[in-house]
Amino acid sequence: MFQSANSQSVTSSDNENGVLCYCHRPAKIVRAWTRRNPGRRFYSCIGRRGANGWVACKFFDWFDKEEPHGWQHVALLEAEQTIKEQKAEIEGLKNKVRTQTRHSENFGNSNALVDILKERKETKFLKGKC
Ligand SMILES: [Zn+2]
Repeated sequence: MFQSANSQSVTSSDNENGVLCYCHRPAKIVRAWTRRNPGRRFYSCIGRRGANGWVACKFFDWFDKEEPHGWQHVALLEAEQTIKEQKAEIEGLKNKVRTQTRHSENFGNSNALVDILKERKETKFLKGKC
């Protein structure tokens, strides 16, 4: 239910309460990003390498005892959406930079430079339309 696709490790906050999982090892704190519990942290097994791959016990306990609710709940869902959109935008820009870097290797060729300038103008035009 709270597996990797919808959660992420919280590296900033350590397990200061000494909560142990069923393996008697300090549990890690993970942040859930489900619709019901956006940003809510919980304890989880840190896992270990076993004979058949990664092994983790089923330990689960909320670190943040209160459920997200009210305007904060809504704000977190909106923030998550914004982050997703920005990530997608950054990916798009990275790809663009990669393409242009490839172009710039041919700067000796003046036609390539003209193409880049044209492309930039078109990009500005498209952005203006949005
Ligand atoms: Zn464990």
